[in-house]
Amino acid sequence: MEVFTSQQLNYISLISSRCGWSDTVDKAIVIDFYGLSEVKEVHCPQCDAQLAALRK
Ligand SMILES: [Zn+2]
Repeated sequence: MEVFTSQQLNYISLISSRCGWSDTVDKAIVIDFYGLSEVKEVHCPQCDAQLAALRK
């Protein structure tokens, strides 16, 4: 699992190895656990596989 900063993610295309979806982070699903986790999770909008983690 790669961990990025939000600044890095603006320039990175994500690829879902499960279903082949590929797009930028603003098209993906970002889940914030509000204090429960150090990172936000970035998930594929098609198959819900976790693609990356985002350092807050
Ligand atoms: Zn996918």
